[in-house]
Amino acid sequence: MLGPVILAASRSDKMRRFISAAPGTKQVVDRFIAGETVDQVVPVIEDAADKGLEVTLDVVGEDITTPEQAAAARDAYLELIERLKDLGLGTRAEMSVKLSMFGQSLDGGHELALANVRPVVEAAAAIGTTVTLDAEDHTTLDSMFAIHEELRKDFPQTGCVIQAYLFRTEEDARRLADAGSRVRIVKGAYKEPASVAYQDKAEIDKAYVRILKTLMQGEGYPMIGSHDPRLIAIAQELGRQAGRKLDEYEFQMLYGIRSDEHIRLAAEGHRMRVYTAYGTDWYGYFMRRLAEKPANLLFFGRSILTK
Ligand code: FAD
Repeated sequence: MLGPVILAASRSDKMRRFISAAPGTKQVVDRFIAGETVDQVVPVIEDAADKGLEVTLDVVGEDITTPEQAAAARDAYLELIERLKDLGLGTRAEMSVKLSMFGQSLDGGHELALANVRPVVEAAAAIGTTVTLDAEDHTTLDSMFAIHEELRKDFPQTGCVIQAYLFRTEEDARRLADAGSRVRIVKGAYKEPASVAYQDKAEIDKAYVRILKTLMQGEGYPMIGSHDPRLIAIAQELGRQAGRKLDEYEFQMLYGIRSDEHIRLAAEGHRMRVYTAYGTDWYGYFMRRLAEKPANLLFFGRSILTK
């Protein structure tokens, strides 16, 4: 019930100002956001590497309003990649990007986002790593998939995300399960209408399993983005049935969520990648984490009230 309300608030400037300024917010934000700067996130990457984990790094930000902001987003990723190169961490860390942060929703946004993301993908490839295009709300996906296809002509390892809650996704999964592809499957985190997406959790889980089957039986590299213990167990079983070795797919979870499970799966020999978000424009990312689990909202409310 609360989820859709929080997701609606994630698009409100008034709420953004209120929540960003509230005392106690930072304490809760810190659970999900690994830092504000590259300097602050480097020890987090090193710590993950020490624990046998890999990371995918997200410089938080979305829905920018000027081409200058889009260029700044590109530069933030280029700075990050330069640091990873200096630290020799290139092969342990990949990048996750939101095309809305690269200008996708501006006038001529499709071309602008492609022009901004290409140098990031190029720089990542030069240090031996990859970029995955996150999935945002359903209105952005045709453009995201077209950019993904374009990038794959030169950088076949470029990944993308598909969302189980959307009716379109089973077909997208069939198209994307080709050799060399890297596809992250998630349940979906945006507020979507009943005309395009399942609203019922059980229906979303069933669709997730069908899509997972397609990916596991396909020729690409599935990336299972979920904290749901049932889906993780099903993924392990589907991987086994498809004759995949443990390094022929990977699990991904978000920084700050079920951290013990990150360690447990890595210890079992799975490749485990932690989606690690950092930066100052954390509002949209943070609100989606609150919407996913109403208990987070209680914790958040309490921390504001006790300040
Ligand atoms: P759920 O059933 O929601 O959660 C299972 C259990 O995990 C919960 O019972 C709880 O114990 C724990 N949990 C889940 N979420 C939280 C939380 N926020 N706080 C505390 N505990 C929690 N969505 C997109 O739309 N586009 C993307 O590009 C995208 N990328 C993602 C990348 C990764 C690596 C992951 C893990 C998720 C991503 N998501 C993305 C979010 C995803 O769509 C879901 O909203 C989110 O993962 C919650 O679904 P779940 O599969 O974990 O299952």
